[in-house]
Amino acid sequence: MIVMKFGGTSVEDAQAIRRLVNLVRERLWQQPVIVSSAMAKVTDTLLQATSTAASGNEPATLELLERLESRHIATAPDLLRDCSQTEADISALFAELRPLLSAICALRVATPRLSDRIASFGERLATVLVSAALRESGVNAALIDARECIVTDDHFTCAAPLMDASNQRLSARLIPLLEAKRVPVLGGFIAATAQGQTTTLGRGGSDLTAALVGGALDAERVEIWTDVDGIRSTDPRLYGHTRHIESISFHEAAELAQLGAKVLHPATLIPAMEKNIPVYVLNSRNPLHPGTCVRTECPGHDGVKALAVKHGITLVQASTARSFRPTGLASEMFSFLEADGCLPDIASIGQTSVTVTVDNKEVVARLTKQFEKRVNIKAENSKALISLVAEDIRQIVGLPVQVLLALDGIEVWMSSPGASQRSFSFVISEKDVPEVVRRLHELLLEDNCSLLAANAEQSVAHAAVV
Ligand code: ASP
Ligand code: MG
Repeated sequence: MIVMKFGGTSVEDAQAIRRLVNLVRERLWQQPVIVSSAMAKVTDTLLQATSTAASGNEPATLELLERLESRHIATAPDLLRDCSQTEADISALFAELRPLLSAICALRVATPRLSDRIASFGERLATVLVSAALRESGVNAALIDARECIVTDDHFTCAAPLMDASNQRLSARLIPLLEAKRVPVLGGFIAATAQGQTTTLGRGGSDLTAALVGGALDAERVEIWTDVDGIRSTDPRLYGHTRHIESISFHEAAELAQLGAKVLHPATLIPAMEKNIPVYVLNSRNPLHPGTCVRTECPGHDGVKALAVKHGITLVQASTARSFRPTGLASEMFSFLEADGCLPDIASIGQTSVTVTVDNKEVVARLTKQFEKRVNIKAENSKALISLVAEDIRQIVGLPVQVLLALDGIEVWMSSPGASQRSFSFVISEKDVPEVVRRLHELLLEDNCSLLAANAEQSVAHAAVV
């Protein structure tokens, strides 16, 4: 069997859902399980409605709700010949959602638990439309509530799956359907605690749902259908000549996701990696494009694979003129950050200072408050973390030197070559990002780039020697 996951833009309207139906029909012989996100922007709107309700603004909340309802209801006749049941199903979901938002308006507070219950409606609504469209086209689709299959802890808004319980429930629920030649359709992102409280897996969490399903059912592969032709060498919004990546290792893709590239949900790859299930990132608007394959082995590329940019970084430096034990301070700072759920991407420890990158301004304020009585705290905002990613970056001869030469005239606030086996990261000012991305992409990621050629020659020479 295979898993086909469709992101928000791949189910954004009737036309997109028709494309999904065609893709699924072409793969029926491979026994697909379908995982769908909410329609594009719906989760954002649901969360916005939640905070608007918490501010007590009932008219604005109702208006947001109205817009969501009419968008879903209007999609039904556009998509289906017979849409009365689907319209009724959509209305029933809104009848359940409305009182939740009214309660938040009245109480003027939205707990994470309530926020998850509200966010869950996006996927529940989308799967009503998707499964109806599949059924009308003759596919024997079975709509499954993912909350009955995926069990998590109670970290509302960013819950972690409990693997044994989830694997058990996924197999028990989905295998009989597949044996009966049915096509299960479930919402991504949403899950429940063992006690049945609705949770979500964190923004972008549908990818993780797909990998969990794939892992539980030993899928042949997981397909992540999106609106771009797979993973590119860097964010195309930052640079016009990015390169398509045909294949990338699990580790490289995970490193990229961790370091800011919006390719896959960072946790997605773990279940797939554990079972060695290839993950394909494909374009539902251009399905003939081969996309990107994420897998264990990734032969034939010795150079830098991609360049990730993480925006909105603050550099926090704790320092003192007196000599002190920086290791003690560092461990306290790290414990503090860990407890706050915000571990730095890179850090540097000197005799009299500890510097870390933090991607959350609120944490910076709390950190400053905690430590400013004992040490000087300096926070520099508007920074970006640039990371070069490759399977074994330390093997690329001369990389740090070439990079630093290429950065001539650019202020580098902190750098960490070799902190990880798979990345070389450094911090620059946000304003320098486009220029730095251009220079490094030209140097390291274009077909005729000099460093790649030098390394290729080296490996040929090496191969000749051994
Ligand atoms: N709908 C959720 C979100 O927008 C989950 C997802 O799309 O993966 O974050
Ligand atoms: Mg998404």
